[in-house]
Amino acid sequence: MTYQAGPGGFSTISPFTYEALPTRVLFGSGTRAQVAAEAARLDLSRVLVLHGPPHAGVARQCESELGARYAGTFDGARMHTPVEVTEIALEQVAKQGIDGILAIGGGSTTGLAKAIALRTDLPQIVLPTTYAGSEMTPILGETRDGLKTTLRSLKVLPETVIYDIDLTMDLPAALSGVSGMNAMAHAVEALYARDANPIIQALALQSVRALARALPVISEQPLHREARGDALYGAWLAGICLGTVGMALHHKLCHTLGGTFGLPHAETHAVILPHALAYNAPAIPEVMRQLCEALDVTHDAPAALHAINRKIGAPAGLSALGMASDGISRTVELALANPYWNPRALARDELMQLITDAWRGDAPRSYPGTD
Ligand code: NAD
Repeated sequence: MTYQAGPGGFSTISPFTYEALPTRVLFGSGTRAQVAAEAARLDLSRVLVLHGPPHAGVARQCESELGARYAGTFDGARMHTPVEVTEIALEQVAKQGIDGILAIGGGSTTGLAKAIALRTDLPQIVLPTTYAGSEMTPILGETRDGLKTTLRSLKVLPETVIYDIDLTMDLPAALSGVSGMNAMAHAVEALYARDANPIIQALALQSVRALARALPVISEQPLHREARGDALYGAWLAGICLGTVGMALHHKLCHTLGGTFGLPHAETHAVILPHALAYNAPAIPEVMRQLCEALDVTHDAPAALHAINRKIGAPAGLSALGMASDGISRTVELALANPYWNPRALARDELMQLITDAWRGDAPRSYPGTD
């Protein structure tokens, strides 16, 4: 009798390694009311609250609920975590005898909390307000003199993450869409990671399903509570994927485009994802089959992601994000200069096609070997 491997394609004897990351997660609506209880649980007595401009009101509420455990506030986080901002915040940490951090915001605010934790080992409670996923990873990207570097350390992994759907209700529709595609990219690349494993594949497919269902709805009805819940749930799972397994071509290209040309993070991820997946498709037929199922299409997962981009009103291409055309060959050179693992070998001509298509805002093409 022949025996078929399970839906993940892993038979029981395929070896793999899985390492769970120890973050405590609270998920729901109104969960931010548990900030003070979580601070007590972590035995924090002097909490520094980090937030960006949209969350001043929520920050004031958390400060008052923290009561005697509240010590100070810092609202100067910036995108890509510049070290000069971290140094200013660290002065405040020292001056106010801070023993824990509460970060309320997107990946930029979380990045500052992580940068402080790297240098002080202070415990972090994070209330995410976008779908970036940084709160679930032991990864920190920092910028020094305009150069962005990335490191991995368990010191930067938040101790507690409180997902409160209410905090995402006012994330503007356009930003919600591209931020959700940023999460989608973590889940998609986890499916074909070099160190992929069946646990992460299951989470990744669940994440793709939730995001694909929710994002077009949120774009039309930003206050749709169930869709907001699904999107945040999908983003949480995507964050676990990003934190647990290695990423490939898509994330490397976005890192280069963000670092070298200062392109906006979430928008760049949305634009590149269909093209990077199309590039890898010939090398990962089983993943493409699973993705089609999760995206509820019969074939061509990259086209399905491109269609979601159109539905959510993502920027048409890298040119629409302000990249000049001479950036195309520069991106390819940089991608080839630092070799990294990818399921399909990197070929200069095809990478030029990929970045040119993404620059123009064209639909993703098929690469040799694709069905
Ligand atoms: P962001 O945190 O910069 O937020 C984008 C904008 O949206 C900001 O102006 C912010 O004030 C606003 N905003 C956030 N939440 C809002 C809300 N609920 N309502 C209204 N406005 C809101 O952007 P991001 O995409 O969340 O994060 C990007 C940063 O995170 C980048 O620096 C990226 O490198 C980093 N990141 C890191 C990791 C990691 O694992 N280390 C993962 C993903 C992203």
